[in-house]
Formats: sequence, C-alpha cells, structure tokens
Amino acid sequence: MLVDSHCHLNYEGLREDIPGVLERARAIGVSHFLTINTCLEQSAEVVKIAETYKDVSATVGAHPCDVTAETCPTVEALARWAVHPKVVGLGETGLDYYHDARLKEVQHKSLAAHMEVAETYDLPLIIHAREAEEDLIKLLKPAKKREKPGVIHCFTGSENFANVMLEYGFYISISGVVTFKNAQTLRDIVKTVPMDRLLVETDSPYLAPVPKRGKPNEPSYVRYTAEKVAEIKDLSLAEVGHTTTNNFFRLFKKAKRTAP
Ligand SMILES: [Zn+2]
Ligand SMILES: [Zn+2]
Repeated sequence: MLVDSHCHLNYEGLREDIPGVLERARAIGVSHFLTINTCLEQSAEVVKIAETYKDVSATVGAHPCDVTAETCPTVEALARWAVHPKVVGLGETGLDYYHDARLKEVQHKSLAAHMEVAETYDLPLIIHAREAEEDLIKLLKPAKKREKPGVIHCFTGSENFANVMLEYGFYISISGVVTFKNAQTLRDIVKTVPMDRLLVETDSPYLAPVPKRGKPNEPSYVRYTAEKVAEIKDLSLAEVGHTTTNNFFRLFKKAKRTAP
C-alpha cells in the first residue's frame, strides 16, 4: 500500500500513456495518486485526469517559478476550482529563489492567495521551497493556527526548516532525492521526522530515484523512495507504506480511498 502524493500526470513523459503509467504503479501497490497543478491555465486538463480515474485526485495552483505579475492567481480564480469534488489541495505554491529571485514579490502575493483559499475551504497547501527558508518561516506562520495546514513537498531543506514546519503542523514529503548518493543531510533529517508526519512522492516525471536515475520518473518508482525511508527508519516497506498512506488520507481528507 503506497500513495504517490505528488506527481505531474499532465507533463510530457507521463501524459502520453496515463493508463499505462497508473497500471504499472497499481501493480506494485500504489493505491492513490495526487496529480499536482503548476499553472492555472492547465487546471481543466489536470482536473479532467482526476475525473477520469477513481484513484487520482488533483490540486489547483501556480508554481512559484511560473507566476508573473500577469499570471499571478487571484483568490477568485483559485476558489472557483477549490470547490470541485476532486480538487483536494492548493498548490503547488511556495517560494523558489533559486531560479529567479527577482520575482520575490509576486511569489509572495501568489502564496498569500493560495493560503487564503486553502483556509477558506479547509484544504491543505502543497508548498514548494527552494532557497527561501527564512521568508517561508515568516510567511507560513499564520497557517499555524490551522490543525493540518499542508505539506512541504520534495523536502530538501535544513534541519531547522524541517523542525519549524513540523511545529507549524506541516507534513514533510520525501521524494527520490533521498536515494541520491549526496543526500546524507536529507537522510539524517528523515531519521528525526516523526513517522506520522511523513509522506512519499515521486515529483514525476522529474527526479527519478536510484536505481532509475537518468530515466523519466513515474509513480511506480515511489516504491524506491519508500524502501529508502524504511531502511532509514529501520521499518519494513509494508509499515512505511501503511503509515504514509494513512498520513496522506488524514491530511488530504477530501481524497477518497478506493479499494485496491
Ligand atoms: Zn516543486
Ligand atoms: Zn512538483
């Protein structure tokens, strides 16, 4: 039993054969997929995928690297999609100063819009964080008043950032990066994150884990990430699968469990 808590089924590399991609993952025990929107213009396309498959849920949001003054999502635009029965979260949003720090202000504005809609509709946030920990600690602080404000996806941050986000109530999602040779810091952090706050994801089609590095990633490879987490936590793969699946449905409470 596993959930891929973050994939991009509408991206090149996956969208050409979604039934095949899902089938291969189901065959190794993946019971649910969360397909993440990164561009508001593609919302209809992303939500349509979730409407087509019982075991796929969707989010709506605009990636911090994609927002500009012209495309910055409004509260109204996000809210229109948030009420859809298969939309279970807001994002991915967040801050990314690695790619373009000039757009800080518009990234802050976009994050604020996502936060407002997430709170209004009681939906979790999917937060992308890159080289922006200090500002995220500041800007996400109001989310602390919610019981389960969301998830920091594809976590690659510092131990301090992990601790503050856990204190705010966020879950921490681990991607295939945890299998990379140079990711010892991340493995040390995984060791300290409480098991009931961990999720696993692929972020596919990007970031294929070892032993598939260099190939296009896909949801079935979430098992390599879960295996690594099991090794770090000294648990069985089944235990990690069971716990992270329960965590997923506790956080994304609008997502419906389907029989495997
Ligand atoms: Zn991301
Ligand atoms: Zn992503």
